[in-house]
Amino acid sequence: MRIAVVRETREGEARVALVPELVGRLTALGYDVDVEPGAGRRALISDDEYVDAGAGIDPDALAGADLVLAVQPLTAEQVRRLRDGATTVSFLPAAQDPGLVADLRDVGATAFSMELVPRISRAQGMDALSSQALVAGYRCAVVAAGMLRRFFPLNMTAAGTVPPAEVVVLGAGVAGLQAIATARRLGAVVRAYDVRPAAAEEIRSMGAQAIELDLPALEGAGGYAREMTEERATRQRQLLAPYVAAADALITTAAVPGRTAPVLVSAAMVEAMRPGSVVVDLAADSGGNVEGVVAGEVVRIGNAQVWGGRNVAAQMPGPASRLYAQNVVALVTLMTVDGALAPDLGDEILAGCCVTREGRIEHEATRLLVE
Ligand code: NAD
Repeated sequence: MRIAVVRETREGEARVALVPELVGRLTALGYDVDVEPGAGRRALISDDEYVDAGAGIDPDALAGADLVLAVQPLTAEQVRRLRDGATTVSFLPAAQDPGLVADLRDVGATAFSMELVPRISRAQGMDALSSQALVAGYRCAVVAAGMLRRFFPLNMTAAGTVPPAEVVVLGAGVAGLQAIATARRLGAVVRAYDVRPAAAEEIRSMGAQAIELDLPALEGAGGYAREMTEERATRQRQLLAPYVAAADALITTAAVPGRTAPVLVSAAMVEAMRPGSVVVDLAADSGGNVEGVVAGEVVRIGNAQVWGGRNVAAQMPGPASRLYAQNVVALVTLMTVDGALAPDLGDEILAGCCVTREGRIEHEATRLLVE
């Protein structure tokens, strides 16, 4: 059976779905692996490294493959080139691209979505949302440190003492906790807030101070946050305003699954920050946590420079690809039986992330959306 690794074509995507050091894991399962030329180039991986690891290089790899591995969803053109009965593994945000799901259904492809891998303990090794959030969270803290024209750590020198930077992190899921850990390692004083009650302990375990607001917790299904009412959002912004005003760097990472990002910080709150402050909004791609943010750009709001994240994990394509590839290989291993691709939809992990199969949309929420 043949696996194809595609060269990503969507703008800004520098990651690749498989790295050379994991080719052997797939060949050991009985697959032949073909990589499209230049697939790893933007992650600084050459074709020769794939060949040395046992893969072939083939510009037409996709058309001949039983299993296609990608980071971004395939394009409509790539879907048309799939061979009969092919299986695909990639990110596949069905809500944003229902037409693509319909195309995958119509060509009879079996499509698995990395976003939909259930977040249960047994699937942790396949959890690409977490692995990519970890990269993005780190990157946000480093961007904030790079943009801020002052030290993150306390410096006690013969010439005097320089106080540490004050960093506020809003949203303490996987990305936010990694941003906190990174800012702490750089020596900043960090305060952080999340609507989920469990987050306060996790914030403290990273050496940061948990901001406690006089507001009810907001936890929904599966341990995720719920959407805020407008009244709650207004109150939360009022209560957070003094923390934001006192911050040298603000990093926002809040998200609610399936929704646009909640607006946690108004333009007026940013305007109240001191000259030279920086804001890094990881959620800019999905609407932004900060009013006025622009994805992929730095804009000035009041005294602050506001950085809008766009596909932030792809800004560190080497490590992000390595982690993503680990997730993908773990998923492919689960769907392989005696050297053959035979996904068992009786398995809750595979059932949870299978979007289309044999001409129908398996994933119920997606089916309601598309049909
Ligand atoms: P996410 O990317 O959906 O959201 C990021 C954070 O934003 C979350 O912590 C959320 O609570 C927070 N948020 C949402 N609205 C907010 C608001 N109005 N104000 C402040 N913060 C707000 O979340 P994630 O990082 O993917 O993970 C969230 C949860 O899932 C966590 O409980 C995490 O521990 C859990 N998780 C479990 C597993 C697993 O069991 N395998 C894996 C990953 C994550």
